[in-house]
Amino acid sequence: MQLPWLRPLWLTLRNDLAQQRLSHAHCIAWQPELGSDRLIQQFVRLLLCQQPQQQACGRCKSCLLAAAGSHPDYYALDSVDDKAIGVDVIRELTSQLQHTANQFGGKVVWINQADRMTVTAANALLKTLEEPTADTYFILSPRRVSSLLPTLRSRMQIHVISPPELSILQQWLAQHLQRHPSAVELQLLQQHPQAPVQVLRWIENNDFPADRVTVLATAWFGQQRWPDLDRGDWSSWLDASEQLLGDLLRIQQGLPVEQLRQPSLLAMAKPWLKQQQISASQFSEWLKSCYATRKMATEQSGLNGALLVQSLWARWR
Ligand SMILES: [Zn+2]
Repeated sequence: MQLPWLRPLWLTLRNDLAQQRLSHAHCIAWQPELGSDRLIQQFVRLLLCQQPQQQACGRCKSCLLAAAGSHPDYYALDSVDDKAIGVDVIRELTSQLQHTANQFGGKVVWINQADRMTVTAANALLKTLEEPTADTYFILSPRRVSSLLPTLRSRMQIHVISPPELSILQQWLAQHLQRHPSAVELQLLQQHPQAPVQVLRWIENNDFPADRVTVLATAWFGQQRWPDLDRGDWSSWLDASEQLLGDLLRIQQGLPVEQLRQPSLLAMAKPWLKQQQISASQFSEWLKSCYATRKMATEQSGLNGALLVQSLWARWR
């Protein structure tokens, strides 16, 4: 496992399997920015392998089929275009699980964005989790673990991937780049500690994101034009909105500059905060509506995330 913060979980899963005490259902939050998908893919391969050692052997028939994407005992479900995963899909899955013989030993099901399952779909899956077919492993990866039905959660082993400390991230980045990261690169890491994989991609592609927090702060403080949003882009603007509000709250509370996600904000924000007299509870309220907006936009399909984010900004002005 190349990503050091995923190693503890990987070792747990691997050891549990080796000692034949692995639970049959696992919940690992969908956090591709932290590399959760790489961990899950590696775990799926391990479960399918006929002669696993420290990891999947890569040579057995089962490994070759998995690598070719045509393993008959592997079932991958996902939400398409952010649409809900309906009960029909789950019923088809459970019927396939019951009626097809495993060809190589275990069967593996990975339901990505599992929180997009409708309640009926989740209940249909619950039945299968309660009475699983032999040697069947389930991996559910929801955006937010808390948004899965409690009954479903109670049937699974929940794994949490915690973002690593900044010093570990810096070390990892230097190792990966085989040089000292630049000041700009380090600042990116500091601003996105929850998304190191994403940061690495930006650096490798030399495609640095526009600094959305500064763009927002400039629009707000300077009463300038607010950004236009694409439909697909709202999530990162919502991130930036949360980051900005969080930092403004920290500045207002007089926390030291090291505790800011974006230290460069301080000089701009201080005089503005003094002039505006916005209360801490007001900032907290706005933050809460950001969280609520994210929940709503990810849980309900067909909503226009860009419009929702813009209506948040309208309340700040
Ligand atoms: Zn193998």
